[in-house]
Amino acid sequence: MARFRCRACAEEGSFAYGGIHACPRCRSGDVQIALIIEELPDDDPLIVALNKLAEGDDNTGD
Ligand SMILES: [Zn+2]
Repeated sequence: MARFRCRACAEEGSFAYGGIHACPRCRSGDVQIALIIEELPDDDPLIVALNKLAEGDDNTGD
């Protein structure tokens, strides 16, 4: 799920984010989307990227 706020139709709420950055009501691209990280699967590309950032360059372990 993700929260959205649309500047085109002024709608806001939550919806099932499917990778398309558009208002679920009016399909406008002029919409702010805030993903709810906790609800994403561990293998979601966004989560994988965040995990890589969190690991940083601390890869000197044996
Ligand atoms: Zn809209």
